[in-house]
Amino acid sequence: MGVSSGSRKLKEAARIILVGAPGVGKGTQSERLMRRYPQLASISTGDLLRDNVRDKTLLGLQAESFMKSGSLVPDPLILDLILRELTSRNWLSTSRLNTNIISAISQRTRSTSCAVEPSQDPDSSFILDGFPRTATQADSLSRLLPMNLVLHLVTPAEIILSRMATRWVHASSGRVYNIGFNDPKVVGIDDITGEKLVQREDDTEETWRKRLAKFEETSSGLLNFYKEKQPATVVVVRGNSSDEISPQIFEEVERRFA
Ligand code: ADP
Repeated sequence: MGVSSGSRKLKEAARIILVGAPGVGKGTQSERLMRRYPQLASISTGDLLRDNVRDKTLLGLQAESFMKSGSLVPDPLILDLILRELTSRNWLSTSRLNTNIISAISQRTRSTSCAVEPSQDPDSSFILDGFPRTATQADSLSRLLPMNLVLHLVTPAEIILSRMATRWVHASSGRVYNIGFNDPKVVGIDDITGEKLVQREDDTEETWRKRLAKFEETSSGLLNFYKEKQPATVVVVRGNSSDEISPQIFEEVERRFA
């Protein structure tokens, strides 16, 4: 079980970032990529934050009001979150990390060198969904672990908006369903776990428009960071649906890493 007939092998370590407006389908693409390339794992900062809010951790309590209002959670909180996750998954080694973490977070280092030698093992391939969101976050990340594919997903805002109302998610895994497009097998129930699906609290039109404005404000700096520092890694993928976008992403990943 597990490896379906459609799954492929990566020959090179892939470290992929998905950049796109809220609701563009980054979660859907992560899932499809992981199904096709079982060596890929994924981290979604949005999901990690929602877990922290649900569990009422200190970080969750600090992040909650920012998320509810559609603002970005402050960088120190996000960096702390992502560093803990990267180390707990052994994608960053802890031995050399402490001083580097501190300098990355405080942004006081001028060094452009990377903190840790990234693993060349294709089994340590991963996708980051929702991080980095700003040029500052990208800069911090680049000092820790350089990414080698930045996928910029583009779908017109009005099309995304019309999908929002029909979006249901499985809270603990982050799996997303869209009614009338990729319906769950049973209405309101997650296909894999059988648990209830929920609608996200921040999926209202008003909050979404705020998050979109925030995305437009911060993503140009983020993309410019990568276009300047490592132009060959940036790829724009356009489509009106996830089904139009996936094949283009697969082709890119195949060409670079498989
Ligand atoms: P979407 O992709 O639908 O915008 P996410 O699930 O990625 O939403 O994120 C939900 C919320 O979590 C964001 O609106 C923001 O408040 C917070 N968040 C997630 N990732 C980051 C990040 N890298 N930096 C700051 N805030 C973040």
